[in-house]
Amino acid sequence: MDLAGKACVVTGATKGIGRAIAEALAAAGADVVISARTSSDVERVAGELSAGASGRVIGFAADVSRPEECLGLIEEAVGTLGRLDVLVNNAGVGILTSIEDLSVEDWQTQIDTNLRGVFCCVKAAVPHLKSTEGWVINIGSLAGRNPFAGGSGYNASKFGLVGMTEAMMLDLRHSGIRVSIVMPGSVNTRFGGDYPESGRDWALGADDVASAVLHLLSYPDNAHVSRVEMRPSRPPRK
Ligand code: NAP
Repeated sequence: MDLAGKACVVTGATKGIGRAIAEALAAAGADVVISARTSSDVERVAGELSAGASGRVIGFAADVSRPEECLGLIEEAVGTLGRLDVLVNNAGVGILTSIEDLSVEDWQTQIDTNLRGVFCCVKAAVPHLKSTEGWVINIGSLAGRNPFAGGSGYNASKFGLVGMTEAMMLDLRHSGIRVSIVMPGSVNTRFGGDYPESGRDWALGADDVASAVLHLLSYPDNAHVSRVEMRPSRPPRK
């Protein structure tokens, strides 16, 4: 796939799924602004991804749970790359524990990062995406349709993200912007304190999610895949 000349932003791109998406976009020739909160990681990963990229990879630290930093990220990306074609809202946190142990602050952190952060990034990006007839791709989760014990904050954020993404899609398709959500099941990353080395070979890889994102971008102008659910093909039996 040739994405030369396309300008992309990927949030939460220093690790796991976001890093794999940024790497795949850059390998396809796109210019990519990668972002996360930890500026040392952002600089390091931008350097690492630049090495194998045909497009430019630029790092900019931002915390998507802060509305002003979402705006700053999009303005920085457009200022540096001159346009915006693809916004991938991937940054997310999971604080998975029973409601009895989940503090109001930890509940709010998940909503502010996984839900309000996406709203703020999309809102800042819409004027720029209108002029390129671009894409918004939100990384949701099967936790956005399947509740589980310990998920009262995470499920709330991801269920909300499904509804919000679909409403945004209905708003923005008339402006030529395609809005999609990719909803993976278990992915072998360090999300929520899981460790790839702890026998999760059965799970999806971050690269599998990146492939789905690139697939969405491959459709012609008249077609739009608005929701992708993906899951490990052979999870352990419960
Ligand atoms: P991960 O390995 O923990 O990486 C998360 C990335 O997001 C890091 O780069 C992190 O860097 C960044 N981040 C966290 N909070 C942020 C904030 N407030 N502002 C900006 N960046 C932030 O997670 P992952 O597994 O790749 O998950 C990525 C997305 O996929 C999340 O939305 C998650 O809900 C979703 N997902 C994951 C799985 C799974 O099983 N792993 C399954 C379904 C969906 P800093 O900490 O430096 O900010």
